[in-house]
Amino acid sequence: SAAPLGSSVIPIVNKLQDIFAQLGSQSTIELPQVAVVGSQSSGKSSVLEALVGRDFLPRGSDICTRRPLVLQLLQIKRKPDGTEEEYGEFLHLPGKRFYDFSEIRREIQAETDREAGGNRGVSDKQIRLKIFSPNVLDITLVDLPGLTKVPVGDQPSDIEARIRTMIMSYIKTPSCLILAVTPANSDLANSDALQMAGIADPDGNRTIGIITKLDIMDRGTDARNLLLGKVIPLRLGYVGVVNRSQEDILLNRSIKDAILAEEKFFRSRPVYNGLADRCGVPQLAKKLNQILVQHIKSVLPGLKSRISTALVSVAKEHASYGELTESKAGQGALLLNILSKYSEAFASTVEGKNEEMSTS
Ligand code: GDP
Ligand code: MG
Repeated sequence: SAAPLGSSVIPIVNKLQDIFAQLGSQSTIELPQVAVVGSQSSGKSSVLEALVGRDFLPRGSDICTRRPLVLQLLQIKRKPDGTEEEYGEFLHLPGKRFYDFSEIRREIQAETDREAGGNRGVSDKQIRLKIFSPNVLDITLVDLPGLTKVPVGDQPSDIEARIRTMIMSYIKTPSCLILAVTPANSDLANSDALQMAGIADPDGNRTIGIITKLDIMDRGTDARNLLLGKVIPLRLGYVGVVNRSQEDILLNRSIKDAILAEEKFFRSRPVYNGLADRCGVPQLAKKLNQILVQHIKSVLPGLKSRISTALVSVAKEHASYGELTESKAGQGALLLNILSKYSEAFASTVEGKNEEMSTS
């Protein structure tokens, strides 16, 4: 099953990587990192998991994410017989492949305890996990501890400031996309997520607002105005989601079931009619994919000029050899030609897609 995040971008990225591989340069398209911010238990880990489409992150009503988890998704080829293989590998356990994703979750918990203790301690030391799969694109997601105000367990008295500094060190990077997570049953004006994202990204060019827990809002209230940006406007807008509840977690409900239940939730509530483009995890994935496509589009001209430069130097080298049959310069010219055509076609596809999106 393809992960929601990246499914529409994977073919584009693969095609471009193929072109670069022929030129002998290493992979040159670096996608932006995606990080989640928000208060504790707002649903950050739940959202990331749903985007990846696999169950493997510790989630729960108490503080679960207590160290930054840098999750590197890496695309691998399908096996020759067509079957697919997905596994995880931790930096702290080199060479050990985890094929069972619930074992990955247990190892994240164990490794959290090793560094941060068993009693709710928090550490800024990263856990680094790679997920290898044919269904992902090469992108890095960062799951972060949530903001808390009152120290509990082994937490120091300045826990809030420490977590803030930790979160800021990730989201201040200009290329980092920020998923600012706020639960619908709390006041948006008090949102830690929007407050921190606003500091790191004042122009709102790289912040997507995510409203979780639409299913447990106070009776008689709904998130329509939040999603429409009427409460706090956000340039890239909002997406509302319904993740699994604590009960669903205890009952081992699958991601697939959760996505179906989410769809049914939105379908059965007239108040969300007409907001289909801002409701549900699949829409969030679509939005992220669009942003990634825009990013790829913006780096293409730079890549093109780098190839041109490389081409000139190869041509010079070639000239210094005199006439040779296997012309590297000729191959370079051919590739540049392919890339130019491809990026033009790509740009028009993207524009076409955007039109289609904005009218939906
Ligand atoms: P984090 O601390 O921000 O990473 O939050 P988690 O993803 O660990 O979720 C915290 C708790 O909220 C868990 O018990 C989840 O089951 C629950 N939760 C998260 N999102 C939703 C949602 O959309 N609806 C409901 N009912 N519960 C949710
Ligand atoms: Mg978490």
